[in-house]
Amino acid sequence: MFDVAIVGLGPAGRALASRCAAAGLTVLALDPQPEAPWNQTLALWADQVPPWLRQQACGIDVLAHRFHDPVLYSPERAVLTREYAVLDTEGLRVALPIGDGVTVERSAVDDAGLVALTERAHRVVDCRGAGGPRNRGPLQTAYGIVVESSAAAPALGGESALLMDWRTDHDDDEVGPGFLYAIPLDRDRVLLEETCLAGMPAPTPADLASRLRSRLLRRGVAHATIDEPLAVEQVRIPLLPRLRPDASRPRVEAFGTAGGYGHAATGYSVAAMLESVPAAVVALGSGRPIPSPRSPLSTALHAVGLRVLLRADDATMHELFAAFGRLESRQQHWFLDAASPSYQVGAAMWNMWVRMPVRHKAGMMAALLRKEARDHAGPGGSA
Ligand SMILES: Cc1cc2nc3c(=O)[nH]c(=O)nc-3n(C[C@H](O)[C@H](O)[C@H](O)COP(=O)(O)OP(=O)(O)OC[C@H]3O[C@@H](n4cnc5c(N)ncnc54)[C@H](O)[C@@H]3O)c2cc1C
Repeated sequence: MFDVAIVGLGPAGRALASRCAAAGLTVLALDPQPEAPWNQTLALWADQVPPWLRQQACGIDVLAHRFHDPVLYSPERAVLTREYAVLDTEGLRVALPIGDGVTVERSAVDDAGLVALTERAHRVVDCRGAGGPRNRGPLQTAYGIVVESSAAAPALGGESALLMDWRTDHDDDEVGPGFLYAIPLDRDRVLLEETCLAGMPAPTPADLASRLRSRLLRRGVAHATIDEPLAVEQVRIPLLPRLRPDASRPRVEAFGTAGGYGHAATGYSVAAMLESVPAAVVALGSGRPIPSPRSPLSTALHAVGLRVLLRADDATMHELFAAFGRLESRQQHWFLDAASPSYQVGAAMWNMWVRMPVRHKAGMMAALLRKEARDHAGPGGSA
């Protein structure tokens, strides 16, 4: 018997497997493609890198690039006074070594196989992610291009980075509310990404690409830059975890996006997951359940946020994020950090509410009460 079987070696599974082995547990790890690189651009706030993963502790700088004060436009300008960072995914893998303490098997495990693993390990942890195409719930979708910094300059308009640019300087109206995410990946390259924060159905990559194109052209980015980018990124993030039939089984638990570590209203998960690794390792080593990612009340508040994001019209959405931009910096952290306690999430949401004009409070209430999500499919049909 292994101490722990970890199914899935994405960021969550690998972090857990690596740290469990470092703590002396015997680990069986299963993934159909254990060495597959993580090609997605993973970002977090620099202060969210947990102490055990900082360079002083692990000897590796897991951040590829960091920069201060990204900006929000909704349409008024607000500076988020916090350092943002892009993870070096290869560096992160090196900082999470899979050594002798981990037996890796190259295989895909279905729900029944997960339960069957209890014959081979005392504890089984599902780290298979949020379910990919099988997850039929709300999605965050985005389409991005990577271009040279000099070519991206007109899109950034002198800002260091655009965390969320809700200005509507694009041609179409059909795709629904969306924003430009524009962040430097290193000194030479910038990611320009058109994002739908939450949709059900969510806009297709083609619709987002078309909006991105019109937005960038209007800002003066050259045709050739848009047509021949250095790389293209398509984002599809399920905002809620897939319901697992085995969820009530003792000894079968879930971690990472499979376990609800994602923030339902932002799609971010990596920072909360990394922060939770030490507690999960202690739990697995001591026979206790893996702690929940957050309190049920925080999860419920995030769900209220998601409900509004799926139903609000453009004007309400813009006013909501303008109110977010007016929050004190610490309250912005409280809302964005996926593991914040409920009193912090509640305080941040309440303060956004009180900072909204009465007209848009009515829009918020209408969005909350609306039965159906906004038809977000855009001209290309549903995603
Ligand atoms: C383009 C893009 C950009 C993103 N940017 C950010 C960001 O900036 N910040 C952030 O916090 N999050 C971001 N996300 C979300 C983030 O990638 C994911 O949240 C993160 O990868 C989740 O890690 P995970 O290990 O929980 O799941 P996954 O990364 O989905 O990993 C799941 C693993 O399980 C394996 N697996 C799947 N099925 C099986 C099976 N049946 N049997 C065995 N193994 C299986 C897979 O091969 C994979 O290795 C982004 C996502 C995308 C797509």
